[in-house]
Amino acid sequence: MSDCLFCGMVAGSIPADVVHETDRVLAFRDINPQAPTHVLVIPKEHHPNVGALAAADPALLGEVVGAAHQVAQQEGLVADDGEPGYRVVTNTGRQAGQSVFHVHLHVLGGRALGWPPG
Ligand code: 5GP
Ligand code: ZN
Repeated sequence: MSDCLFCGMVAGSIPADVVHETDRVLAFRDINPQAPTHVLVIPKEHHPNVGALAAADPALLGEVVGAAHQVAQQEGLVADDGEPGYRVVTNTGRQAGQSVFHVHLHVLGGRALGWPPG
């Protein structure tokens, strides 16, 4: 989509601090980090939210989740015992806090994370 920020990053027309990339997935640091590690993981193909992605291409959703775990591993957030741990968040809709309508997983970690979220 020509007016989509994250499609622009995939196309290379908008700069991104990329930490992981495959043929179908891109992961880059959030511009306004909420934790010591805050990475966004996206499918390169445009889907508006996680439900739409699950319906259109469940295998691609699996690749995005797998990439999120790989990013957490390379950031030192998760060893074989699952510790110290990280959080994956995906917001759907404005009331939930979605501001970019190209599906993305937030990978957050590096500090204690409160529950319930805000
Ligand atoms: P949402 O609010 O849709 O769940 O998450 C969108 C995220 O994109 C926010 O955490 C915001 O900081 C991040 N973001 C917005 N614009 C940019 C940008 O130009 N570059 C990067 N790297 N992240 C961005
Ligand atoms: Zn897009």
